[in-house]
Amino acid sequence: MHEEKVADKNTPYWWEAAPVRPLPSQPLAKRLDVAIVGAGYAGLSAGLVLAREGRSVAAFDAMNPGEGASSRNGGITSGSIRPDYATITRRFGEAKAIAIEAEGKIAREFLYDFIETEGIDCDFQLVGRFMGALGYDQYEKMARGAEALAKRLGIESYAVPHAEQCNYIGTDFYRGGTVRMDIGGLHPAKLHAELLRVALASGLTVHSRTPVISIEKDVSGFRVATSAGTVQARQVLVCTNGYTDGGAPFLRRRLVPVRSRIIVTEELPPELMARLMPKLMMMGENRELGFYYRPSPNGRRILLGGRDSSRGNSDPTAPTLRLRNGLIEIFPELEKVRLSYSWFGNVAMNRDMLPRIFEKDDIVYATGFCGSGVVWAPWVGTRAAYKLMGRAQDAGTAFDFRPPASIPFYSGDPWFLPAIIKGYALQDKIAWWRARR
Ligand SMILES: Cc1cc2nc3c(=O)[nH]c(=O)nc-3n(C[C@H](O)[C@H](O)[C@H](O)COP(=O)(O)OP(=O)(O)OC[C@H]3O[C@@H](n4cnc5c(N)ncnc54)[C@H](O)[C@@H]3O)c2cc1C
Repeated sequence: MHEEKVADKNTPYWWEAAPVRPLPSQPLAKRLDVAIVGAGYAGLSAGLVLAREGRSVAAFDAMNPGEGASSRNGGITSGSIRPDYATITRRFGEAKAIAIEAEGKIAREFLYDFIETEGIDCDFQLVGRFMGALGYDQYEKMARGAEALAKRLGIESYAVPHAEQCNYIGTDFYRGGTVRMDIGGLHPAKLHAELLRVALASGLTVHSRTPVISIEKDVSGFRVATSAGTVQARQVLVCTNGYTDGGAPFLRRRLVPVRSRIIVTEELPPELMARLMPKLMMMGENRELGFYYRPSPNGRRILLGGRDSSRGNSDPTAPTLRLRNGLIEIFPELEKVRLSYSWFGNVAMNRDMLPRIFEKDDIVYATGFCGSGVVWAPWVGTRAAYKLMGRAQDAGTAFDFRPPASIPFYSGDPWFLPAIIKGYALQDKIAWWRARR
């Protein structure tokens, strides 16, 4: 019997309005000041600064520019850092924890300012984000966190008690939540396309479908071997994040690519949207395998994302159904909804779950965004460009420190992920049971 597809299309919704495509082929320069590996948000942001400062610079991408995470993501300008304040303080000291928290605010503002001053057309809306609490204990803890955020950084953030939740979200799934108004939503593929437009206009050369195969040091810099030939570059910046391959073996042993999948509903009636997402905010929750979700920029569909433990080119049915069940658990009214899109992309995790700029054997790396690169990748990419130019005063960032630790028995194939995801699922079940006792 012919089975109905779970989602109509298995390509990103975002590609309808901003398709990723190859660029016209460019001759390969013999010499460059800087060769950049990867043309996502990070690589392009760095290339833009370097080109504007008069450097000869080219970015190489193994796929079409943007075809990595930068045109596949949820478009939520979270700028989140996974470890909480207390954990960072314990591991790296309080000064680092304060600096990282403050940098999140600066990096978000940097992105919003870039969008405005460069006239970036990416449907950006600073609508705020609601985070749902699973139980009343979690709510109390989150409410204290919102208060601290407002006090420490002056960010408009506040708690929403269970009784008032319906003004933010049409569900009884949560026991209240918190709102912060410095987070919004944008169209990620449009952001990438616009960044590409501005970077090309500033003099950055971008070679699409041109993987970097190896990077070798020599007397005058580096020999960068690509599928289109070899380039001599004075400096090299690696921005390959969740798509890091054998071209950057040092990084590959330190980053774990983790799949994140997004589903998109069919267009919903306006009165239903108004009930489920009355303020059209970005949404999230605090579970290990929690979901992030949001309205489409035109406010007619719901997008929901979460972990995908599938591997290779396996059938998308099971991970799509897992997300669909999650959507219905939050919004039972959507039980009969049709899904129009389902796709995945790779985020990059490292052992301490912090984004990074670091240098190893004179190669600079800007990477490790742990699923929050809409804010972090443009910011960290820009800081990396200043670092390459030796402008320490502009490069200043709390993320420029030692390389992430390598992962034992790992060289790029994350064989251990399905087991870890199962473990998280169990933790979530226990946490849920405790929260609702
Ligand atoms: C489904 C999903 C949802 C997400 N949702 C959000 C969200 O809502 N908010 C948020 O802040 N973040 C989100 N993220 C994360 C965010 O998209 C990424 O952190 C960000 O796009 C990373 O940008 P980047 O430039 O570092 O890497 P990418 O955009 O992934 O680009 C890396 C590029 O490197 C190239 N490359 C790799 N190896 C080579 C080589 N040897 N030679 C040449 N090129 C190479 C790849 O082809 C790729 O294009 C999400 C990610 C996914 C996948």
